[in-house]
Amino acid sequence: MNESNNSVLKNSTEQMLDESTMTSFDHVIINANIATFSAHYGFNIYENEDADSIPYGQLHNAAIGIKNGKIAWVGAHDQISTHLPHYQENQVTDVDGKWITPGLIDCHTHIVYGGNRSNEFEARLQGVSYQDIAAQGGGIVATVSATRAASIESLFAQSEKRLVALMKEGVTSIEIKSGYGLDLDTERKMLTVARQLGEKYDIHVSTTYLAAHALPPEYKNRADDYIEQVCEWLPILHAEGLVDAVDGFCENIAFSTEQIRRVFELASSLNLPVKLHSEQLSDIGGSALVAEYKGLSSDHLEHLSEEDIKKMAASNTVAVILPGAFYTLRDTKLPPTEALRKHHVPMAISTDCNPGTSPLTSLLLTMNMGCTLFYLTTEEVLAGVTVHAAQALGLPNKGKIEVGCDADLALWNIARPADLAYQMGLNPIQGIMVQGQWRDTI
Ligand SMILES: [Zn+2]
Repeated sequence: MNESNNSVLKNSTEQMLDESTMTSFDHVIINANIATFSAHYGFNIYENEDADSIPYGQLHNAAIGIKNGKIAWVGAHDQISTHLPHYQENQVTDVDGKWITPGLIDCHTHIVYGGNRSNEFEARLQGVSYQDIAAQGGGIVATVSATRAASIESLFAQSEKRLVALMKEGVTSIEIKSGYGLDLDTERKMLTVARQLGEKYDIHVSTTYLAAHALPPEYKNRADDYIEQVCEWLPILHAEGLVDAVDGFCENIAFSTEQIRRVFELASSLNLPVKLHSEQLSDIGGSALVAEYKGLSSDHLEHLSEEDIKKMAASNTVAVILPGAFYTLRDTKLPPTEALRKHHVPMAISTDCNPGTSPLTSLLLTMNMGCTLFYLTTEEVLAGVTVHAAQALGLPNKGKIEVGCDADLALWNIARPADLAYQMGLNPIQGIMVQGQWRDTI
């Protein structure tokens, strides 16, 4: 254990060492190395190397006390060891020096959809152009048709396997967007499936209304009329409890800032937070619009300007970057990570799991891509799937390990946190805990 970790732990736990507290937990995890991502334990990704920050907010030879599904105490293993005889065997998890991180958070996904597009993938590799595929009813239109045609049970079954794949790599919270219905009934069906997934697997699901994703074929050349429909459907679905946030696709090939503004204006009047697919292919001012509405996140961002980064910093908006789409599209324009660092805009990363541009259900591989393709540090990509991803979803009690936070944890058989971003294809997960309960089967 290093000296600074010791003093951090002592300071933070001094008041909580009385016998009654130390014997009151529902569960204790002992002999742990912990990547807390908590400022209480020195996590400060913006500080330079000579400052008093501790990478990952890491603690060695540490322990966690859990009560009522929350983290109730974090301290040195030695501080709990004399109290262990008070606990039943099944109340103690000895992790034997393995690493605990917050449960991972995938903060930008489209995992609910019908069909898939491997046929287009195959055709493109045989030389068929995007335009020809689109002309034959392919692309997003194909996914919209398959999603509209699917029964709710079929849509659930198709989407469930993607959620399970993510959970098998430590995901305990996920954002799921609509946006392949583009009509009221199918947008409702997608959001309902997202809620059902959260209920069946008892994990946190944030739902996002993304009807402003693409123009449905029946509204060809009538984008303003479609946006009017999008604005009519939102209060209906919100009243049904299906909407946690509102998103759109702001791009020359999708919707303009003025059209998105109409959706955001309505979302604000309903007290719903906003986020946006912005600056993926060009810079038309999407992130500045998100910042104006104090949005949770602006996502993609390859073409984002420094001027708009300053606006995101001022509005506390998270930059969500999506290396899976960059990889699939063989993009070459890197997101402006250096300028995001300079202005202390928190960066999250996510799978962007979708059937067209990112058929990716591995957050571990996404972390590796974040490092290799975008030159992020291992600490940045890990913060990007924990504390910063939680901020991108407006979940202040998730994504870090400190007293008062939800006991959503992942246990890893690794030598150091960087292993999670370094290895490709080897899954070192040992278990996940959600709201204080270990899950036997994921
Ligand atoms: Zn997306």
